[in-house]
Amino acid sequence: MEYDVYIHIPFCRKKCSYCDFPSAAGHEADMESYTDALCKELALKSETLSMFGKASTIYIGGGTPTVLPIPLLARIIQTVQAVVPTSENLEFTVEANPGTVTLETMTMLSTLGVNRVSIGASVFDDAILKRIGRIHTSQDIRDAVRWARAALIVNVSVDLMYGLPGQTMDILKWSVGSSMDLAVTHISVYGLTVEDGTPFAREKATGTLELPSDEAEEEMYDYLSETLPKFGFRRYEISNYARHDFLCRHNLGYWQDRPYFGFGAASHSYHNGKRTANTKDINKYINAVGNGESPAHTEETVTREKHIEEFCFLALRTAEGIDRDKFANVFGCEVENLYQKSIDDLKSKNFLEETTTHFYLTPLGMKFGNQAFAAFLL
Ligand code: SF4
Repeated sequence: MEYDVYIHIPFCRKKCSYCDFPSAAGHEADMESYTDALCKELALKSETLSMFGKASTIYIGGGTPTVLPIPLLARIIQTVQAVVPTSENLEFTVEANPGTVTLETMTMLSTLGVNRVSIGASVFDDAILKRIGRIHTSQDIRDAVRWARAALIVNVSVDLMYGLPGQTMDILKWSVGSSMDLAVTHISVYGLTVEDGTPFAREKATGTLELPSDEAEEEMYDYLSETLPKFGFRRYEISNYARHDFLCRHNLGYWQDRPYFGFGAASHSYHNGKRTANTKDINKYINAVGNGESPAHTEETVTREKHIEEFCFLALRTAEGIDRDKFANVFGCEVENLYQKSIDDLKSKNFLEETTTHFYLTPLGMKFGNQAFAAFLL
């Protein structure tokens, strides 16, 4: 069976003001022992992976993988290549923060078999980059993409954000135009959400966080969803756009109910009807693996009901939508048997359409995705 592999690097040079991802700054002293633990965890699970089948994608994310010194990141990649059986057409992605890469980084990645980089750009405006706590400039983004290309990595994705403090439509348009100039193959777009416990949440509480109005943010969302396809980027998922066939196959795996194995602190795995999560605590992770214990701290059996719900709303995130035959094969019944009322309701709102093979969200349904997903809760 094919599966996907995710490897988490929980380090950043500095926390961005909006970020609640499992990552921390100031852990330089732990990077080597974390790398040791990660390589050990990979080696320990090598047999399980071989018995399961082959990985069709590998994704090293974070955090900031490229904050690791080049020899440590290279060691992780070499270990993955040595212990994970992979399919011929492997997609191997590494996330890169533009403030932490050089031509040497990209050359190392390419030489070791990485064929896709995902660059956290956010916005091509230096004042806003500074305001949101990013460590790089817009020139750093341009350099990162050019170095990737110089190292012969063709498949380059950038993340863009909207709804940021100080961001106007003109600034958003400039960011899109700059991405086009760089001829990236893939764009992910995210609206800012103010997450609890972040510096932005504290600013919001004290009234010092000035964000674009709801109307302005909606205008930005509409601009992105209407304009990117005009530039040749197919919207294949609510937040993701790709040129040609440069869809992110790793993320498609999550949306298409494929099994995955996670490695590193805070990573998740999902296979054989079970979902496990490794401890988020970097030192507990290092110690557990070092002592030969499992770093997993939760294990959940995914019930049939939960599996059906997740299958539906993850599939509905994609342009393709719910594959009716696949649903019937996995669950032994038709989608309509469980959801006829929800389907009728969503169709009446112009949120959902159906063909003989699929149910999929309309652009309006994608815009109000949470309402559509809620209709698929059992
Ligand atoms: S670089 Fe990414 S993971 Fe790190 S703090 Fe910023 S947004 Fe979070």
